[in-house]
Amino acid sequence: MQRAPYQTKQKAAILECLYQNNEAHFTIPQIAEQLKAAGTAVSTPTIYRYLDTLVAEGKVRKYVLDGNAGSCYQYNSESENEELFHFRCEKCGRLLHFQSEELQQLNARMKQCKSGKIYLEQTVFYGICENCEE
Ligand SMILES: [Zn+2]
Ligand SMILES: [Zn+2]
Repeated sequence: MQRAPYQTKQKAAILECLYQNNEAHFTIPQIAEQLKAAGTAVSTPTIYRYLDTLVAEGKVRKYVLDGNAGSCYQYNSESENEELFHFRCEKCGRLLHFQSEELQQLNARMKQCKSGKIYLEQTVFYGICENCEE
């Protein structure tokens, strides 16, 4: 099937946006914002569709978080990026990322006490962000 050129351009713009920021995770609204700022406005359903394709092609990693938090997307680079953890502000709804050596050590400790394994990439911490706390 022949695809209209603008569709390919939109898909390329989504991949480019994730590639340029390969250290970061993005939610769908964040990607929409980035694309708009770069001059390629793409509708949310279209972004969803192309991301599904990019995930299926192995070019993008998808972090499926719990129902309320939505999903996050990241460029699938060869070198493993350091694990980022998710924090959801219950007041403004923003999904934030943070790094934590302690959390990375958590599964090693869980293993020592034979407690099992936590899926940290799917775990969301809920609380209140710095902006909302003021
Ligand atoms: Zn994320
Ligand atoms: Zn907040």
